[in-house]
Amino acid sequence: MKTALMVAEKPSLAASLANILSSGRCSTRKGLNGSCSVHEWVGQFRSETVNFKMTSVCGHVMTLDFIGKYNNWDKVDPAELFSCSTEKKEAVPKLKIPYFLAKEGAHCDYLVLWLDCDKEGENICFEVINAVQQGMHRKLHINDIWRARFSAITEKDIKSALANLIKPNENEAKSVDARQELDLRIGCAFTRYQTKFFQGKYGDLDVSLISYGPCQTPTLGFCVQRHDEIQTFKPDPYWVLQVTVKSPDGQDIVLSWNRVRSFDKEVASMFLSHVKEYDQATVVSVQSTEKCKSRPIALNTVELMRVASSGLGMGPQHAMQIAERLYTQGYISYPRTETTSYPENFDLLSTLKQQQNSSEWGEEVRKIIAAGINRPKKGHDAGDHPPITPMKHATRNELDGDLWRLYDYITRHFIATLARDCRYLSTTVKFEIGMEIFTTTGHSLLSPGYTSILTWQALGNNDTLPKFISDEKVNIQEAKLVECYTQPPDYLTEAELISLMEKHGIGTDASIPVHINNICIRNYVTVAAGRKLIPTSLGIVLVHGYQKIDPELVLPTMRSAVEEQLNLIALGRADFYAVLQHTVEIFKQKFHYFVQSIEAMDQLFEVSFSPLSASGKAHSRCGKCRRYMKYIQTKPSRMHCAHCNETYNLPQNGNIRIYKELKCPLDDFELLSWSTGTRGKSYTFCPYCYNNPPFRDMKKGMSGCNSCTHPTCPHGMNSNGLSSCLECDLGILVLDPSAAPKWKLGCNRCDVIIHLFENAHKVTVDTDTCDCGAQLVTVEYKQDKSKLPNEVTEMSGCVFCTPAFAALVEKHRAVASKPVVTRGRGHAKSRNRGKPKPPKDKMAQLAAYFV
Ligand SMILES: [Zn+2]
Ligand SMILES: [Zn+2]
Ligand SMILES: [Zn+2]
Ligand SMILES: [Zn+2]
Ligand SMILES: [Zn+2]
Repeated sequence: MKTALMVAEKPSLAASLANILSSGRCSTRKGLNGSCSVHEWVGQFRSETVNFKMTSVCGHVMTLDFIGKYNNWDKVDPAELFSCSTEKKEAVPKLKIPYFLAKEGAHCDYLVLWLDCDKEGENICFEVINAVQQGMHRKLHINDIWRARFSAITEKDIKSALANLIKPNENEAKSVDARQELDLRIGCAFTRYQTKFFQGKYGDLDVSLISYGPCQTPTLGFCVQRHDEIQTFKPDPYWVLQVTVKSPDGQDIVLSWNRVRSFDKEVASMFLSHVKEYDQATVVSVQSTEKCKSRPIALNTVELMRVASSGLGMGPQHAMQIAERLYTQGYISYPRTETTSYPENFDLLSTLKQQQNSSEWGEEVRKIIAAGINRPKKGHDAGDHPPITPMKHATRNELDGDLWRLYDYITRHFIATLARDCRYLSTTVKFEIGMEIFTTTGHSLLSPGYTSILTWQALGNNDTLPKFISDEKVNIQEAKLVECYTQPPDYLTEAELISLMEKHGIGTDASIPVHINNICIRNYVTVAAGRKLIPTSLGIVLVHGYQKIDPELVLPTMRSAVEEQLNLIALGRADFYAVLQHTVEIFKQKFHYFVQSIEAMDQLFEVSFSPLSASGKAHSRCGKCRRYMKYIQTKPSRMHCAHCNETYNLPQNGNIRIYKELKCPLDDFELLSWSTGTRGKSYTFCPYCYNNPPFRDMKKGMSGCNSCTHPTCPHGMNSNGLSSCLECDLGILVLDPSAAPKWKLGCNRCDVIIHLFENAHKVTVDTDTCDCGAQLVTVEYKQDKSKLPNEVTEMSGCVFCTPAFAALVEKHRAVASKPVVTRGRGHAKSRNRGKPKPPKDKMAQLAAYFV
């Protein structure tokens, strides 16, 4: 029997699809990567009986990256990133997806691709084909590779997809490849350059990345543009003539002035005094017209994200994750679509009937069915998927929290598209007071239509007008001038930002939420109440900087032109290489111009952020100029000498203290100590040597004095080293004198820490060695604190061998905090790695260092 391998985009989808296609009769086993399962059954495939094997990937199999050496920020000029080689790497190496696919696919005869039906899914199809082919002796013929097209995880959709297989679309896959490559090259080049340029210069610039993205930056641009409008807005006063009349049934009605407003106070006052001459208004006309509020068009992704943000308070990224879960579980159709028009053959009635027994909206649904459904309004057909539609009935108990809230909205929206429009009578009454005309408008509901489902769109009841008759005279209660000010616009809401991005063609329905999320997590905007997006000072400075140097970097026009080209690739109307080459070339030139003009941006940074010389606290002395250097605590923490204009990196994620104002004998810089707490790792180090290792065997940024092989320095490994490490091969246990009185030995390679002689006054490493190979130590206690036998105050011995020390030495690992196995207290017998040796012969090693 032949085998048909079928691959879905996620494990949960594979399970649902297999369950549908096998009618619940598949057997399931775990795949060899432990994350993806394989579901098997026997069934009909293109009129033969085959073994079906359904499994999945976990999203993208591969990811695009530069080849290894270009990932080094320090060694590579970012300009090279426009032309250097790239490679596809496994997206999640620990899942071993390519290996897994090659194994499972090795003997298959057919391959059916069930990846999500969007461009990303099409791209993953080819990653899967590639991985499966790798494992085969005889490659699968292209005629044996199929693509299933489906929009919902329902029996009807899925079975019909299997019966109507098509071919994977290589052009769509290519357009994704092109987008990935452009984003990688352009994004990384600008990001690395500006991060390196700005981060080292300012003390309070507290970010690890100053990123640029061809989509992300224009997205931020919209938020900053609104901010600028708010900042430059100057409120103008204006005056409104407001008249209140008493209706025949005694209600106070406020009338609107036909001239609306006057920006001139004197003119307004003139009108007021004219009106004040009368105490009655005359009804000139009463007009009623029937109006309607139109039901919504069918739901697409962008509208879903907008409503989720404005109505449900869910960020777009989160909303799409929830929508995808609803889709995977078969509750809704595929949630990534641009389409707002139902295809002719879509069975709207049976989809609606699934909802007729709901306790939430069943009654409304039954009414619609009884009256006959209304044809949905004509929308836009993007040819991808049907609009987002509920595919299965759910109750409030079945779905929790946000899943329910989103399902509730999607379902109500769907029902509303099949309901009638909301109809109401709008009545306008026109009044005359002297020469001036005033009006009031009210309405009364004729039929609520769809607003009984989308209740938040219902018309209020309280603007029904009392009855007025033409020529009737009513009493004026009050006439006055109201002073108002023109209002600045408010900050952009997320929903407005989504609309702007859609309008300008920035991002796609799939990537819009990602870009918005990025500008939030990178700290360029913050989300305020009402999901308003307020740019941070970094976000503002960045956008203003681009505007100064090259406004196209932040305008939406560049990106939408690129997205258009990408679409042409997808449609097979543009050449992949040509588009790629042309676009990379444009951005490369923009990059060079940006680098030349960076001072323009820097001037803005100078205003918003304080330079290193003005930040941080005076801390320890510089070895070159003997002045105090400043310690800048914001990450990455650094030492900065304002006089020498030098910045020194520090070990991160620990406390930095001055170590007794002692100096490094090599360069006169004051020594510091780094520590992660009294029970954690610690060592002393010299800020200069840390950045400029004096000896060949010391790695830059890796080590402190505990790795320093200076032959006579009292702080180095040769003076404080005690023995080779008990746990690792290359490490040496070194005493950290800065930890006193919580004395400890720490390995200079691994996490081994040995606490010893707590509260001792002094601990020193002697020049003599014990028989076991370790250096002897001398410990001194103050008279009253001695823990030594007979309360002696001083004693020399071996940490591993001297019985009197045993109780005073505690061995454990810094991280795991578990005892270190000491193999019979350091004696040689138990393991062949040998007994603790002293640090290697000091003088012999010296020769090697001075080269
Ligand atoms: Zn200096
Ligand atoms: Zn030094
Ligand atoms: Zn040193
Ligand atoms: Zn070690
Ligand atoms: Zn010993």
